[in-house]
This record gives sequence, structure tokens and C-alpha cells, in this order.
Amino acid sequence: MRFSALRVLKEGLTGNKGWTSHWRDPAPKDEYDIVIIGGGGHGLSTAYYLAKNHGYSNIAVLEKGYIGGGNIGRNTTIVRANYFLQGNSEFYSHSLKLWENLENDLNYNVMHSQRGLINLFHSDGQRDAFVRRGNSMINQGDDAILLDREGVRKHLPYLDFDNTRFPIYGGLLHPRGGTARHDAVAWGYARGADQRGVDLVQNCEVTGIDIENGKVRGVQTTRGAIKAKKVGIVVAGRSGQVAEMAGMRLPIESHILQAFVTEGLKPVIDHVVSFGMGHFYMSQSDKGGLVFGGDLDFYASYASRGNLPMKEHVMEAGMTLMPMIGKAKVLRSWGGIMDMTPDGSPIIDKTDIDGLYIDCGWCYGGFKAVPGSGFSFAHLMATDQHHAPAAKYRLDRFRTGRGLMDEEGKGSQHNLH
Ligand SMILES: Cc1cc2nc3c(=O)[nH]c(=O)nc-3n(C[C@H](O)[C@H](O)[C@H](O)COP(=O)(O)OP(=O)(O)OC[C@H]3O[C@@H](n4cnc5c(N)ncnc54)[C@H](O)[C@@H]3O)c2cc1C
Repeated sequence: MRFSALRVLKEGLTGNKGWTSHWRDPAPKDEYDIVIIGGGGHGLSTAYYLAKNHGYSNIAVLEKGYIGGGNIGRNTTIVRANYFLQGNSEFYSHSLKLWENLENDLNYNVMHSQRGLINLFHSDGQRDAFVRRGNSMINQGDDAILLDREGVRKHLPYLDFDNTRFPIYGGLLHPRGGTARHDAVAWGYARGADQRGVDLVQNCEVTGIDIENGKVRGVQTTRGAIKAKKVGIVVAGRSGQVAEMAGMRLPIESHILQAFVTEGLKPVIDHVVSFGMGHFYMSQSDKGGLVFGGDLDFYASYASRGNLPMKEHVMEAGMTLMPMIGKAKVLRSWGGIMDMTPDGSPIIDKTDIDGLYIDCGWCYGGFKAVPGSGFSFAHLMATDQHHAPAAKYRLDRFRTGRGLMDEEGKGSQHNLH
């Protein structure tokens, strides 16, 4: 089933009876060439690119819950390529290029909206840091425009410029940054993978990883044993638990990140805005809700709801930046379990076990990374060669200390990144 304007018109005129399910609901087979553990954004995009770019079809994605129930359906949907360090810069640049053709590629409306992202700065030192970041983005071939205070006011007149604790000095505009509809990204990749023969098996939790003589043989699941020649672990906040099934101890801590959505308002914020004096970012969804996010809750946890102090912190930052936010009612908030590495950058690598691969550590940056991560991880799993844009995401950098990518400059404290 292909989506097109003609099809929508025809279905509209004939009672919408012709739509079919986006993907099948297969029972797991006894054996696959490749098993992907985790049906989040990264697992689904990996399966999609394994099928599309490398010709695999005997693949299963095993998801313990339902497709879209993890962080892929819980994030604040920001998509950008504004990283500073080599390694991250080329990876996110590649991912953004994939985003820009994603709807055509998947034949699916993921509502990708390049509305522009503005990072505010509030001191001379911060301005210098953003100038360096902007230059790094431009050198990578991406877009960055430095705005002074009046430049920011032109784009974001509703911010508090005149009576605020942290005066706005200016901002770095990334015009190709923006948002997308998170569930639709999961559904689009799921549908695309299914169409290429991938089995998406929901309600199937992996409970063990079978290894013989240093080689992976398959997995144990709540729906029986499944043999596989290769296995990819792509389970975000559960990475430590699943890797432990293979006897590995990962340099990952799991923390909660919360999101907040207000009642629907008339269009007011037409960019993504990121505050520089506290971790706070906001945009407005197509339904009108203001969407806010902040920092991780600063303790390790597997609970998928957050605590009150972080809620207070996020609301305070919002009020400081844009006092009229105080009049909007927050309707919903929730948390997601995030996988944070010591340098805040991710991992896409082979493990010491033959045939076992891992893709994790995305934490804050994992939604925008979905296309690039799936593309690069599929390349690695299919060819055993690192894909150039993701070649620096090595697991052993935490063992050797070489090649760390501490984008935030916050050292080895997971919870500070
Ligand atoms: C509140 C919040 C806001 C965010 N905002 C942004 C943002 O604005 N921009 C951005 O780029 N990123 C953002 N992120 C980060 C991004 O959402 C994540 O980094 C990314 O979604 C993680 O990858 P994933 O989609 O594969 O994870 P998930 O969707 O969590 O997928 C992992 C899947 O693995 C499954 N699983 C776990 N254990 C097992 C098992 N044993 N067997 C089978 N399946 C298993 C889980 O059920 C889950 O579905 C945000 C995250 C949160 C929580």
C-alpha cells in the first residue's frame, strides 16, 4: 500500500475502507540471519537499512512491549546537526541529510519540519563558544548564522529581553534544525522494514543471549529460543541489562529524562528555542501544545517517570525566558529511560563476542540520530566495517581513554552531560 494524495482522496470518497495494517504481526520463526533486540527508533531503522541497503530479509526485530512505546515515542522531537566535535559533527550531519529525504524514502509523513533552531547565549564567553560551534558546523557543510540581541528579538519577539535575570546577548541560528513527529518515525520505519520482509515481533522480551565458544548463536525470549547468526543490541535505557546477558559490563548509566506538554495554544513559537542559562528547550507542536524539556534527573533509575525537583527546574527556566509561559497549563508529563555514556557520545560497535553488535549511549541526542544510527549500524552489521560518519563511536574508547568525545566538556560524570 503506497500513500499518495490520490489515494487519500479515493479513500475519503469511499469510506476509508481500503487502508490496511502498516505491518504484519508475525509469530517468531526458529531462526533468522539477524536478530535486532529492541523495536525503538534505532532498532527499526537498523532493520530497515539492513534490508534496503544490504539485501537482508531474514531479520527479526524483537520488542518486549509495543512498537513506539519506548523513548522513540517519548522525546521532545528536536532534530539538528549542530555538534562541535569531530566524530559527532560528521555523524549528525549525515543523519540530517537522511532526515531531509526521509518522507520520500519511507513514503510516510513523519512531519519533519525544518523550522529553525536557536541556541541563546547570555554572556561574552558563551558567545565565543557558540561562534566556535557555528564555525565547526559550517566547516562540516551545515548551516549556522550568528544573531546578535536584535537579531534574536526579530525571530523571537516574545522572549523577555528587558527585565530578565540572564540578559540575552544573541543566539546561534541553525535554519535546518527543527522537529518531526516521533511516533510517525517509528511507524514509518516499521512499515518500511515490514514491506522488505522484516518480522517485527512485539511482546517478545529477550531474556538471554546464547553464546558458544565466543560466538553468538541466538537469543532466549519470552516466546521461545530463536537462533541467529548475528545479534544487535539496540535497547536504549536497558542497554546495561541486556549486555549483562552476554556477560558484558557497559560504560552506561540509565537516567530519566522528562518531557512536558501544555494545553493547545494558537501558534506562538515557530522555532525550536534553547535557553543558555540552564538546560531548557521548547517548541510548539502542530496540535498547539508547547513542548518543554530539561536536564536528566540526576540519579540512575529504571523508573519511567521523573521527580518533582526537575519539573520545578524546567518550569522556572521557562518562566525566566518567557514569562507568559506561566499562564499556560501543563497537561501532561512523562519520562523515558536514557542511556548515558561517560563522555556523552554514543557507541556503535562490535563487541568482543563474534556476531554480537551494540548500538547505544544516545541519551539526549537519540531522536535526531535515528536515521544515521540505523544506517551506520546496518553497515557495520552487514559488512563488519565501520561506516565512516560513525567510525569514532568505539566502545573501547572508555577502556583506553583514547578518542573520547566530550562534547559538553563535563568530564566523566554521566549525570552531568
Ligand atoms: C523526554 C525525552 C526527550 C527527548 N528529546 C529528544 C530530542 O528532542 N531530540 C533527540 O534527538 N533525542 C531526544 N531524546 C532521546 C531519544 O528519544 C532517545 O535517545 C532515543 O529514542 C533512544 O533510542 P530508541 O528510539 O531506539 O529507544 P527506545 O524507543 O527506548 O527503544 C528501545 C526498545 O528496546 C526495548 N527493549 C528493552 N529491553 C528489551 C528486551 N530485553 N527485549 C526486547 N526489547 C527490549 C524497549 O521496550 C524499547 O522499545 C529524548 C528522550 C526523552 C525520554
